Amino acid sequence: MTDDPNPLNCAAFQSQLPDLIASGENLADHPHIRSCALCRALLADLETIAEAARQLLPIEEPPDEVWEHIESAIKIEESKRR
Ligand SMILES: [Zn+2]
Repeated sequence: MTDDPNPLNCAAFQSQLPDLIASGENLADHPHIRSCALCRALLADLETIAEAARQLLPIEEPPDEVWEHIESAIKIEESKRR
């Protein structure tokens, strides 16, 4: 799935999500978030996880490892929904 002509689908959006969050972008205004309830719910979950991670790790920028954990969490969520 490299050449998807459609606007971002969920898989593409979710693969970008860690980068989008890391960039500090306001995801609530993201077109995909606005149009996709599933990803809105996912984002809410992620923010909860990210918030917990910030509280666990007294550093400003979480290491890549944290995002890998979050990505694993996304995959677990996805498999639960299927
Ligand atoms: Zn979506």
